[in-house]
Amino acid sequence: MFSFDFHSPVEPLDVPLFKDREVNVYVKRDDMIHPFISGNKWRKLKYVLQAARSLGKTHLVTFGGAWSNHLLATACAGAKFGFQTTAFVRGEVVSNPLLSLCRIFGMRLRFVDRNAYRDKAGLFAAFATQDEKAYFIEEGGYGLDAAKGCEEIINELDTVYDHIFCACGTGTTLAGLCMGLDSKGLHTRIHGIPVLAGGAFIKKAVAELYPEVAADGIVLHTDYHFGGYAKTTATLERFICQFSANTGMLIEPVYTGKLFYGVFDLASQDYFKPGDSILVIHTGGLTGILGMYKRFESV
Ligand SMILES: *Cc1c(COP(=O)(O)O)cnc(C)c1O
Repeated sequence: MFSFDFHSPVEPLDVPLFKDREVNVYVKRDDMIHPFISGNKWRKLKYVLQAARSLGKTHLVTFGGAWSNHLLATACAGAKFGFQTTAFVRGEVVSNPLLSLCRIFGMRLRFVDRNAYRDKAGLFAAFATQDEKAYFIEEGGYGLDAAKGCEEIINELDTVYDHIFCACGTGTTLAGLCMGLDSKGLHTRIHGIPVLAGGAFIKKAVAELYPEVAADGIVLHTDYHFGGYAKTTATLERFICQFSANTGMLIEPVYTGKLFYGVFDLASQDYFKPGDSILVIHTGGLTGILGMYKRFESV
């Protein structure tokens, strides 16, 4: 329905650590899908937008924090595909580069305090009494339609990998990857790196979207959150700079920095067998770095 299909390339990641450990690491460059409808956010929105359109809805209403990549993706996708967009933004009124980009793409922003924000269904219901064309999209795009979009990552691969890694916020992308592997009957080991503290909840979040998921089907590495969501440390920042300077591939502290840090750390601990092939999903989200540029003034 939306003429926007871009198969992101897969690139080898040739760094001395992986050569030394005799593992072959590749990156699925979903960050190249679009600069603002970035990475997994396009995949997560695709079927959501189709559902909205088929119901005759013309106004996307969604939720997020002031640095949410999902808000920007929704703003840009709405503009591209002819939807109005409104976002309820958690917390006090702020301005930042990401929210300005949302505004430029025509999104209307409503700041709501943390207490009111918790009742998303209530906020939407009140909004929908004013506009019957409004369509609810969950915070972060979490949901089954979103997971189905992410399932397509697997369909685009022409090689079978021993391991696939992705960063996890809500677990939607991970659920989609599991669905894709199962429907192709592949026995690839699937790994999630939660970017929040207490990331074990991701297993439950995946099972809610995909109840058929095998109990031992997912490996979560819960120790790479660096203090919690959007938290960062000097160690992580140094890693990001080294990685980007050595590869020409940009990563950021909120998601993909933690993801690649985890993969490198596991490799250095001989977690993988020689000969293993590993695919890392670069889920994009590079605008996140705009809020943290000061941290990189002196690395
Ligand atoms: C939103 C986001 C994620 C998290 O995806 P989930 O499907 O919510 O787990 C990962 N990486 C990036 C860059 C993101 O913007």
